[in-house]
Parts: sequence; C-alpha cells; structure tokens
Amino acid sequence: MNYTGVRAVEVVVVGAGQAGLAAAFHLRRAGYEPDRDLVVLDHSPRPGGAWQFRWPTLTYDKVHGMHALPGMELTGADPRRPSSEVIGAYFDGYEQTFGLRVHRPVSVLAVREGEGGRLLVETSQGPYATRALINATGTWDRPFWPRFPGQETFGGRQLHSSQYTGPETFRGARVVVVGGGTSAVQQLLEIAPVAAATTWVTRRPPVFREGPFGEVEGRAAVALVEERVRRGLPPRSVVSVTGLPMTDAIRRARESGVLERLPLFERITPAGVSWPDGRTVEADTILYGTGFRAAIDHLAPLKLREPGGGIHMAGTRAVRDPRVHLVGYGPSASTIGANRAGRAAVRDIRRLPAREPAPAAG
Ligand SMILES: Cc1cc2nc3c(=O)[nH]c(=O)nc-3n(C[C@H](O)[C@H](O)[C@H](O)COP(=O)(O)OP(=O)(O)OC[C@H]3O[C@@H](n4cnc5c(N)ncnc54)[C@H](O)[C@@H]3O)c2cc1C
Repeated sequence: MNYTGVRAVEVVVVGAGQAGLAAAFHLRRAGYEPDRDLVVLDHSPRPGGAWQFRWPTLTYDKVHGMHALPGMELTGADPRRPSSEVIGAYFDGYEQTFGLRVHRPVSVLAVREGEGGRLLVETSQGPYATRALINATGTWDRPFWPRFPGQETFGGRQLHSSQYTGPETFRGARVVVVGGGTSAVQQLLEIAPVAAATTWVTRRPPVFREGPFGEVEGRAAVALVEERVRRGLPPRSVVSVTGLPMTDAIRRARESGVLERLPLFERITPAGVSWPDGRTVEADTILYGTGFRAAIDHLAPLKLREPGGGIHMAGTRAVRDPRVHLVGYGPSASTIGANRAGRAAVRDIRRLPAREPAPAAG
C-alpha cells in the first residue's frame, strides 16, 4: 500500500475515556498490539477522560454508579478526594497495567475516505490509515449553551456547568441556575448556602426518582435512548431519561425551598431574566447546567448524519459506514454502557474481512 507519511493500522481508537479504554482493553485481549495494529489517540493532557476536568468539589462520594473499567477494579479510593484525581489516577494505572500506550495530546481533526478501502484519520501529529475506527470522544468538548433573546445584553456573568470550579465564586451573588440534570442540581445545592439568592429554572418539571435504580430501570432508560438513535435522531443523555435520584441532600433542599423550580424564562435582560407574564428576577450570574452534545464534528466528512440530525446505528456500528463504531454515544453514554459498547465494537470489528497485515506504526 502506498502511504507516504501515513501510518497504517488496523484500528484507531479516538478518545481515552471510559469508552475508549474499554475498547482498547478488548482489542488488546483479542490480539491487537498497541502501536502496531492499534493506536489510541486522546487530545486531553492527562489520563482520566472528561473526569480530569470535573470540578474539585465533585468528590468521589458524590459520583453515583460509576462502573469500573473491564479487568481492573477501582479499590481503596478516599471518598473525600476529588473524583477528577481518583479517576485520573485509576485510568493512569489502567493504561500502564494493560500497556495501552495512549498517545496524548493528539487531536483527531478529521476522518475521511482514504485509499484501498481504509479510512484516513487526520491528526495534529500526522495521518493514519485504518481499517476500522472506534470513536469514543464523549461530550465534554461540546457544552450546550441555549440561546435566549437579550442574552448579549446581560450585565453579569454567564457560565456553563463545565466551567464551574466550586461555590466560592458565587458567594453573595444572586444566581439563576438553568437546567434539570444532575450537574445543575449538584451545583445549585453547593451554591445555595453561600449565594445571596438562587433561582432554579428548567424546561420541563423535574422528575425525582424514589427507590433504588436497578437493572430493570436501567435497561428501560437505555431502551428509550436506543429507540431515538435507531430512528436517526440525536441521542438524549441516558441521565436525562433516568430522572434525578432522591438523595438526602435533595430531600433537604426540597424542604428548604432551594429546589422550588420555575419554568424557563423568556428573555434575558441587562439586570436578570423575565417571563412572559411580566415576572422578573434580578441576577448577577446565570449558570447553564444545560448538558452537552456528542463531540463528533471530526466525522463530518464521512456524512454519517441522517436528516434528523443523529447517526443511524446498529448496535455500536454506524449504518452508513460499517468501519465506524461509536462507543459512549447515545445509549452507551454511561460508564457501564461504555464498557459494554467497547466489547461489542471489538466483536464486530473482528468480523470485518481480513486485509493485508498493517506495517508497524511509526
Ligand atoms: C458531571 C458528570 C458526572 C457524571 N457522573 C457519572 C456517574 O456517576 N456514573 C456514570 O455512569 N456516568 C456518569 N457520567 C457520565 C460519564 O461521565 C460518561 O458516561 C463516561 O464517563 C463518558 O466516557 P467516555 O469515554 O464516553 O467520554 P469521556 O470521558 O468524555 O472521554 C472522551 C475522551 O475523548 C477525547 N477526545 C474528544 N474529542 C477528541 C478528538 N477530536 N481527538 C482526540 N481526542 C478527543 C477527550 O479528550 C476525552 O479524553 C457523568 C457525567 C458528568 C458530566
């Protein structure tokens, strides 16, 4: 094969979060040798996937239902330590233990059709030609900012939950928190005791989930997201269909009125926010806990998207291009889903018709 300056491999894994590492583990176990048959690329500075960026007050005991990576448990972690440190160290140890040789920081800029039926993966460190691609890029790089009339006139600070660093910068401020997901609620609960006032607004009335969240409930939630993806619609996060777990902290906050929720406002004014009925709330800060979208812009040249905006999937495989797998996407966007998707993608890739062996990666 004539690939001047192009390294040929069997599989490129993009992203070394939970989904990418699970996939790399299963590839390794199936006999794919890192840096010969397989490369794992990640553009973040350190091990940990998106966890490395999570706010320091998100301690390990506040993380619910985090599943270990396949083949190695996370044991003995101090629950009061930031989850960014705990999980960063765990992922680091995992990469070393299984010799996954993650290349970082390497950005995948675009994936397009290459020569000889391979995909050409353009990166900040040169191109790769690959028979298959496992995309595990998560959502952290694409925070979703809703748009409101008057937003640019606001005199205070606007930030996304991904920029939150803890409650201190909200001390004495009047804060509007937008969004009904876990991040919005966890941050609101931290801010409320130090802020001058908080107002919580959500598009839909929040659903609080009482009782345990077991296998049956989990499967039902995943099925809802799966159904959208099968129809080629953009996925909703798994968390968005599971509801908010009723913890002691949430119960107390509901009793104290912190979780009195208002519907979404209509516009942002220089001094705050306003509703169609004339109601206004003055604010110094608006915090958007409005979630994320899939970070898949680099796949645009492959034209995988359906008219509905999503990627039509069969399991983890993109229906429009069977060489491309998306793990941690849509129904597998949870730590347990990411593990399962990694295994399923590798099983599928091993069934691709064999071509000539790839030369050693440089
Ligand atoms: C605040 C918060 C708390 C959560 N808590 C839980 C929980 O308690 N339990 C649970 O099951 N789930 C939880 N989740 C969801 C969970 O984080 C995810 O399901 C899972 O960890 C995501 O793993 P991932 O591998 O798909 O993505 P990520 O961890 O986001 O990893 C993606 C990696 O891809 C890299 N990347 C992205 N684009 C490129 C590119 N173009 N080139 C190269 N590299 C790229 C990134 O640098 C990153 O390292 C939480 C999510 C959030 C936001």
